[in-house]
Amino acid sequence: MKKKYAVETGLVHCGQDKASQGGFVNPPLYRGSTVLYESVAAMEEINSDPLKLKAPAYGRFGNPNSRAFESALTELEGGFGTVLTNSGLSAVTTTIMSLVKTGDHILISDSCYYPTRNFCNFLSPLGIETEYYDPEIGSGIESKIRVNTRLVFMESPGSISFEVQDVPAIASVCKKKGITTIIDNTWATPLFFKPLLLGVDISIHAATKYITGHADSFLGAIICNEANYPTVRAGAIKLGQCAGAEDVHRSLRGLRTLSVRLRAHEQQALVLAEWLSTRPEVQEVLHPALPGSRGHDIWKRDFTGASGLFAIILKPHYKKDSVDAMINSLKIFGLGHSWGGFESLVLPGHPETFRLKGSWQGKGALIRIHVGLENLEDLKADLDLGFVCLNRP
Ligand SMILES: *Cc1c(COP(=O)(O)O)cnc(C)c1O
Repeated sequence: MKKKYAVETGLVHCGQDKASQGGFVNPPLYRGSTVLYESVAAMEEINSDPLKLKAPAYGRFGNPNSRAFESALTELEGGFGTVLTNSGLSAVTTTIMSLVKTGDHILISDSCYYPTRNFCNFLSPLGIETEYYDPEIGSGIESKIRVNTRLVFMESPGSISFEVQDVPAIASVCKKKGITTIIDNTWATPLFFKPLLLGVDISIHAATKYITGHADSFLGAIICNEANYPTVRAGAIKLGQCAGAEDVHRSLRGLRTLSVRLRAHEQQALVLAEWLSTRPEVQEVLHPALPGSRGHDIWKRDFTGASGLFAIILKPHYKKDSVDAMINSLKIFGLGHSWGGFESLVLPGHPETFRLKGSWQGKGALIRIHVGLENLEDLKADLDLGFVCLNRP
């Protein structure tokens, strides 16, 4: 597809190759490990450069389903190439593992998804030092950079605490110093934020979330610029990364309707966030698209929309028993990990247990909210009853 089309049009048509699909709109599902070659010469030719992906070589290296999904994401975010992995977390770990070696220092935003942090703990016995930085550091990242700093990892907004990072400022400092920048772009999806166009080298998605959109798959995607694609692709091959064909198929289907789903999540979440900010039980609403909220100005400058995931911090006098009673009382909002599916979810968050010492200012309980596609008044009524439980003596 030519670049002149708007992103909504791109979402519907990107990565399509109807000619190779007998005219069918969607690629058939390719289940398979072995790929048969015509001759030894053909086998040698195809395998001479596994990074070039001349033709299917072996199921683990991808198939027409993954090629279609990869090219769709590459096109949407303006990358050079995309690498798929079996989960969002493995997209994070594969990217970092592909780039680092013993003796390196890496900088990770203190707002990162906890499992990303948990993975970094695994790096220190390998002689790779992780340092966490304030997500709002902006160009101040320069003061953290050492001679052996290999990469800077961002997540914006942080998926529990919702700080918005000054991505262009960080990318520009790192570019000058030759340091690779990576962002976990799951919250915004390719629809609302395009980090590679702002100078970031690698954009990661847990396609498990909004892209698949139906809570029925695990998939990670790593969209790279030209300089990093060969390294990350080779790393994924060495690590044995293999995205399941059925998950890829479902995720590509989800991508086609992303713009309508995400706009609905966005609108409903904004109404609920505004309503929650008027509730006497709520200390603070952490939602970057809410005027006056933390990070709003940067969000407005860099993003074209907001997804349906945000958090509230309750007034500090509510104790754990009351907060648990509130969450347990909800009938529509489910209690569970993940987000980006059609359904509304809540999750208690505990940034104070893993953030840098003294950096988390929130005093009350944090509840993360994913606003699904249910009726808005039903959702509000559900939370309203939850507040009754919260206030019960
Ligand atoms: C869920 C999530 C991941 C991990 O995705 P999985 O598919 O569950 O492994 C990574 N980053 C963020 C921000 C997430 O919310």
